[in-house]
Amino acid sequence: MPSDAEDEHPAEKIRYVNLYEDTGKVYVRKISGFYQNIRRYTGLPLIAGYILLPWISIDSRPAILFDLPERKFHILFTTFWPQDFMLLAWLLIIAAFALFTVTVLLGRVYCGFTCPQTVWTLMFISIERLCEGDRNKRIKLDQQDWNINKIMRKSTKHSLWLLLAFITGATFVGYFFPIRELLLGLIPSRDEFGMISWTLPPAAIFWTIFFTGMTYLNAGWMREQVCKYMCPYARFQAVMYDKDTLAVHYDNARGEKRGPRKPNQDYKESGLGDCIDCSWCVQVCPVDIDIRDGLQYECINCGLCVDACNAVMDKMSYPRGLIRYTSEDQLQQGKTHWFRPRLVGYCAAILIMVTAFSLAIVSRSAVDVNIIRDRGVKLYRIAGNEIQNIYTLKINNMDNQSHRYRLELEGEQPFKIKGYRPLEIEAGEVFSMPLRIALPRELAKRDKYPISITVIAEDNDQLTAQEETIFIAPANKE
Ligand code: SF4
Ligand code: SF4
Repeated sequence: MPSDAEDEHPAEKIRYVNLYEDTGKVYVRKISGFYQNIRRYTGLPLIAGYILLPWISIDSRPAILFDLPERKFHILFTTFWPQDFMLLAWLLIIAAFALFTVTVLLGRVYCGFTCPQTVWTLMFISIERLCEGDRNKRIKLDQQDWNINKIMRKSTKHSLWLLLAFITGATFVGYFFPIRELLLGLIPSRDEFGMISWTLPPAAIFWTIFFTGMTYLNAGWMREQVCKYMCPYARFQAVMYDKDTLAVHYDNARGEKRGPRKPNQDYKESGLGDCIDCSWCVQVCPVDIDIRDGLQYECINCGLCVDACNAVMDKMSYPRGLIRYTSEDQLQQGKTHWFRPRLVGYCAAILIMVTAFSLAIVSRSAVDVNIIRDRGVKLYRIAGNEIQNIYTLKINNMDNQSHRYRLELEGEQPFKIKGYRPLEIEAGEVFSMPLRIALPRELAKRDKYPISITVIAEDNDQLTAQEETIFIAPANKE
């Protein structure tokens, strides 16, 4: 029914989306072509990388491990510590900017080709197709009453889905818990009382079950609903589009007026365009939209409708590209503007951030030192002829090997570390000890002296860190 809004703006075509409407099950038709191949060849390495990475060892630990109890993130050859949180935050900001840049340039290609939801849904649909056949067979099977054939096909599909969901869920937990221990620990054993038990922490079991269930639900059952209604990126990506963003478009001028035609009919004379209204572009669409209605926020730019329409165009001996990747400006003015201020700005911002991030990583020291003055301790104490200040010294050896560290103390006066000895600190160890610094009483002319302590690895003088603090003394004013 036309609404008031339509009455007010008769020239605008307004599309209403009922978020609560049951749109029915989507039966995606199989299609092959250029973009389907790209989806396959981008999806497969991503899945292989995702599954294999927790099994690859670097320095006798997984290549990627988010070790939450130890508060260390191992990413390939680098280990990030809590104090590197800013670097990780920068990494995420760079990734977000890269996504914005790609969206301005190529629309939602991330969604169509590399988003885990898309890649996993594609795998789940492939399993469905293997067990139940292509679109028409699946529709027929769903309309049938339950029989042995239907039970067998459905149960095989769900078993394979669950297996894939378990591999996905366990792998995900494998990024936080060593995967070999996780899989061995999932096998139950009997304790001394004959009860079935697991050696794994309950949290690891819970998250494995949780992510298995979420994968099964998201990729098996919810599919396009996740992209349409749950994904926040789908909601705000439209603001990054401009008239020169490449996206999948239907060439309205060429396609309309759409309609079926007889073989050898001069359809142009009958006022028809190139679209034969076969609906293939709709049947292959994983989010169940008709791209001929114009650019829509649900479209993930996967290009499957391009493959489908190109196949139809080939059959009809019409030129390809009735649906194609192009920009609004290309369709309306015949030209896409590549150098746009927004795009140049995004690229420049990424370049600056990547350079700053790389410098920060390269110049990052693998040792960190912290000197804390204990609150409960007196500011200074007098011991014989000396004034002493007591601190807590913390040295974090973030390197992948142990080192012997020496301490160097600098200040205006001949300060001394009492009971000094070099410190042997293991790889990844946070070493903590009380530190007493002393000054002869007669040399204390002021009540505060800045001092600095430098930690240097004896086998590598590039491995060094420095911290400054204050030495407090009763000023000797005579
Ligand atoms: S696949 Fe092409 S020809 Fe068929 S309905 Fe879609 S746009 Fe028209
Ligand atoms: S309209 Fe075309 S490009 Fe957009 S999601 Fe559907 S099939 Fe993919």
